[in-house]
Amino acid sequence: MLYREFVLALALGSLSGCAGAADPPKPPPPPDVVPRLEETNPPVLCIGCDEPFDMSTHKKVLDKLASNPYEAELRRALYRQDILHQFESKAHFDNCDFDSAMDYIRSLLDEAGSYVGKAEKAKADGNSQQVEILAASAFFSIGQALHAVQDFYAHSNYVELQAPKARRVADIEVIAPWRPKGRERIKELQEQGLYSGFVFWGVPQKCPSGTPSHGDLAKDSSTTKRGAVRFPHLQNTSHYQVAVFLAREASLALMADSFKRWPLLRELNGQHVALEVLVDRRGIDVKQ
Ligand SMILES: [Zn+2]
Repeated sequence: MLYREFVLALALGSLSGCAGAADPPKPPPPPDVVPRLEETNPPVLCIGCDEPFDMSTHKKVLDKLASNPYEAELRRALYRQDILHQFESKAHFDNCDFDSAMDYIRSLLDEAGSYVGKAEKAKADGNSQQVEILAASAFFSIGQALHAVQDFYAHSNYVELQAPKARRVADIEVIAPWRPKGRERIKELQEQGLYSGFVFWGVPQKCPSGTPSHGDLAKDSSTTKRGAVRFPHLQNTSHYQVAVFLAREASLALMADSFKRWPLLRELNGQHVALEVLVDRRGIDVKQ
């Protein structure tokens, strides 16, 4: 029986005995592939600079990034989180588990810092190969943090809470969950009705009963139920487009903070990164 048929049969009560509440069915892992940068053609971000890009500059920068090992690690982490931590609420801001998600992001950045510390030692020892390996690991940790930061906008109702009050999309506050101020804001917003989607196969589950499901709330793409809904007062911008805008701004801020904190990473990588945003491959279309 295919997985989706199994879930449907379970929902209809035509299966019994093979999966109980303690052992809920879970979606299969997504394929372990990272599409080539040239295929996804994401926007290039200039970190700590405000450089406008025309099409030919964008193409040149993207071509260069395609062979950049640090860029590769950032993107590998973005994609692999859906495999490495497919069912953990904290890695995707699911199930109203905001505190764990924020702790998780901080711990990933601490991990990145520890790799950079070792890379600096290796640099002082003249071991350039070790510097590259350690710096790549730091970029992987940062990429994992980026994934969670982006998911805050796609998997919570932050867009729904803020967009109706905004006159322009650019006026919506960008939350940086890794900064103390961002953490405080999320806590305040929780008191004002912030929640994230309920995922029946995610752990732990901290939402009150009746919280909308991930399937109903997610804004990871323009075709999800909520992602497709438009805000007429914001020139018909969709929920997905607002979530992408905020996720991209937050990603830029996280990269800027990282390069400021660890100049070695900027030195090795250069000032440009190119990132997809809001990639969710964990089985978002599985019925909940
Ligand atoms: Zn995710």
